[in-house]
Amino acid sequence: MKKVELKMQLKKVDIKTLVFFVVVAFLTQGSSDNGCGDGTPILDSNGAANGASHLNGVHQAGADPNAPNQVAGDPNGADPNGNGSGDNGTANAGDECSSDNQCGGGQCVGGSCEATVPLRISLVWEVQQDIDLHVITPSGEELYYRNREGAYGGRFSQDGCLQTRCDEGTNTEMVKWNSTPNEGTYEIYAVNYGGGQAVNFQLDILNEGQRERFQGSVGASAGARSGTVAITVGGSTGTGELQISSHRHETWHAGTNQTFTVDTENDDIDRVQYVADGQYDLGSSTRSPNFSNAYNFNSLGEHKIEAKGYGNGDFELDNHEITIVVTDNDGGLPNPGQGAVVSEKLLAKKILEMGGISLYNIQVSGRNDGADSRSNMTASSNGSLAANSSYGNAPGGRTRLNPKMLQAMYLLNQVHGYTFRVTSIAGGSHSAGSQHYYGHAFDVDTINGRSVSGNPTLARQFEAQCAALGASLVLGPGDAGHSTHVHCQWN
Ligand SMILES: [Zn+2]
Repeated sequence: MKKVELKMQLKKVDIKTLVFFVVVAFLTQGSSDNGCGDGTPILDSNGAANGASHLNGVHQAGADPNAPNQVAGDPNGADPNGNGSGDNGTANAGDECSSDNQCGGGQCVGGSCEATVPLRISLVWEVQQDIDLHVITPSGEELYYRNREGAYGGRFSQDGCLQTRCDEGTNTEMVKWNSTPNEGTYEIYAVNYGGGQAVNFQLDILNEGQRERFQGSVGASAGARSGTVAITVGGSTGTGELQISSHRHETWHAGTNQTFTVDTENDDIDRVQYVADGQYDLGSSTRSPNFSNAYNFNSLGEHKIEAKGYGNGDFELDNHEITIVVTDNDGGLPNPGQGAVVSEKLLAKKILEMGGISLYNIQVSGRNDGADSRSNMTASSNGSLAANSSYGNAPGGRTRLNPKMLQAMYLLNQVHGYTFRVTSIAGGSHSAGSQHYYGHAFDVDTINGRSVSGNPTLARQFEAQCAALGASLVLGPGDAGHSTHVHCQWN
């Protein structure tokens, strides 16, 4: 398999902004229940429509608002075992979907299944305004709506907006290569065609089985252009010659002091340099022993580590990049109130693995609609959006899970020792405008094996811990509509 190297060609951003995006919501907060309703075992919904909120799109935290930022890498995005649910395992390109699992080994892009191809670059956005995808290939040709057939196999396809007319819901433009693309650097950006308002978008890239997503935006004026994402296709001798052998991709490591080693069969490599997050030099090392290099991280959380192998004359001969999560020795991460430092994908994976948090696999109402807590967490762990329910007040559709919320769940269990059962995250019917629908809140009905309803003191302790972890709203026994469950919310 060819090596994929993703680079930001823009202003470097702090590691925290690489993995942390906030959904900015203007919330008119009700005095009591701002979210729950499905936490009670009987009711699907409640009538209290306080807490109406208004979602204002996804913004990046920090730095350059026009620079697309990489979000969770998704090397497993191709879902090789996915055989679709409810689709007889034979999902076809073009079928509606909410996760890769529904696409029979393909990928879910902008709500439609796409077949696996060697290279696919997709621009996905929700605002009903025309923005355009532009891809400049290594040969210098520009693929976009006016140049749809590349000389080297790239094909532009459009689904969504045409000038001022847009479909409802998700819009997508893409360029696909059904055969092996040319090696080299591909530059990708978006342009606001007619102007009107700023538009947030996602770039969803499949490159030889590796899935990567970037968040970006274009300004409000006609012709406003986003920052550029550059991806490299091929050009490497590939893994096997040089590999980071001390750490596996996407694994968690307790302790900030980490020692990296590299294996290589390339005798021409005589020095390996380690770089974190594309910008922090971790030092370099020679062959004996195993290009070993120790580094003491001063920031916990998710880091991309690249090992670059150099030969005589200081030419870079090979490289290998992995993502790891560094925690402190107690298994902790910083308080999410100060910003989450791990992407929702890796947090969701960890929560599914670690076992102290049980996730309801149906709605409290008894419905089995694929928007239950376990399905939400699984979707997020696959780099997909989590489903909302479509009954009662629930709006349908999909949402990201807030990484601050997931980080708090992780800490509640791993650091603060609570085991608990989550009855609802993005699914279920709650009050209109509930922050559940935006993936900002979760409900808990059992703590340390005891029911919330029968143990209000324990529930209050749990609520207080949510608040200490930066929760913006906590509710439980004693609050209207919350006699049976605790609601913790981050936004
Ligand atoms: Zn709730």
